[in-house]
Amino acid sequence: MKIAVFSTYQYDEEYLKQFNTGHKISFYAVSLNEQTAALTRGVDAICIFVNDIVNAEVLGILKANGVQLIVLRCAGFNNVDVKMADELGIPVLRVPAYSPEAVAEHAMALILTLNRKTHKAYNRVREGNFSLEKLMGFNLYNRNVAVIGTGNIGRIFCRLLKGFGCRIRAYDLYPNKDLIEMGVEYGTLEETLKDADIVSLHCPLMDSTRHIINRESLKLFKTGAMLINTSRGGLIHTTHVIEALKTGKLGYLGLDVYEQEGKIFFQNLSEDIIEDEVITRLISFPNVLITAHQGFLTKEAMEQIAITTFGNIDAFINHEEMLNRVTA
Ligand code: NAD
Repeated sequence: MKIAVFSTYQYDEEYLKQFNTGHKISFYAVSLNEQTAALTRGVDAICIFVNDIVNAEVLGILKANGVQLIVLRCAGFNNVDVKMADELGIPVLRVPAYSPEAVAEHAMALILTLNRKTHKAYNRVREGNFSLEKLMGFNLYNRNVAVIGTGNIGRIFCRLLKGFGCRIRAYDLYPNKDLIEMGVEYGTLEETLKDADIVSLHCPLMDSTRHIINRESLKLFKTGAMLINTSRGGLIHTTHVIEALKTGKLGYLGLDVYEQEGKIFFQNLSEDIIEDEVITRLISFPNVLITAHQGFLTKEAMEQIAITTFGNIDAFINHEEMLNRVTA
């Protein structure tokens, strides 16, 4: 098959080449959108990532260009108009679970860094500043942590928290029996957020979860709580979160995702003027830590993404059951 891979970086190319099962691949650094969809002329399949846009207009171009298959190198598929792809007869396949440990461990890294301020200590010591002023943290032991969404990633994250001796409350439409046996207490969103020292988001972005953290839900937070989002930026109403940071209602914010990340993440903009004033405001807070969607970035996850992606493509070619297909 001729496959066009969009939003390609060195690490994508390395792993996709290593696990290629014999396809002709063109790698494009650009994201897929209305302007770049013309690159799919003569292509059988496209391989995309989190910030590629496959809306009705792009799908129309893909169909006209003869694209038969869309494979996502990620779990989330909120960037694809799956309903329209179904109508056009273009299957959409994803990588449902490549390494939930990678993202869960990154969420834990954000918590530990924000709490113990190792990023600040590193910079201080490099400059010969050995002062401990303003580096005070808190013990994770016995702290209340709210986990919103206990699927593949949320489940592993709960296990990590258990190791730290945290009290875990969770909110999910489908409570997990193993987690209940482990001592995780499920409740409503309100019950879960209330009294939490740390809130971590692990549910997918859907209409029902968009801006699940907003001015109203933030009122339920314990003053000074920490909010962690490694899931999708749209789960958070960013300007409401900024308000909560300004009043001190929110004590810490750790983000690996951002609602408008498509225009800035995965690029080196260090010599550019960043026009997004919401992210520049966020960066200005001393108690905010942002990473640019790197939760998935481990060797193990990249291997699994490449293997599953080619498995998905080969299942389509060989008319096998497409186990990782997403439908409307
Ligand atoms: P999953 O599908 O295994 O789990 C999602 C859980 O959320 C499920 O248990 C589901 O029941 C629950 N859920 C659905 N709707 C809900 C709602 N309204 N309220 C509460 N819970 C709800 O997904 P996963 O593999 O654990 O991944 C979670 C998310 O993490 C993905 O959707 C993706 O957006 C994100 N992700 C981020 C990265 C990264 O690099 N930062 C990498 C992979 C995935």
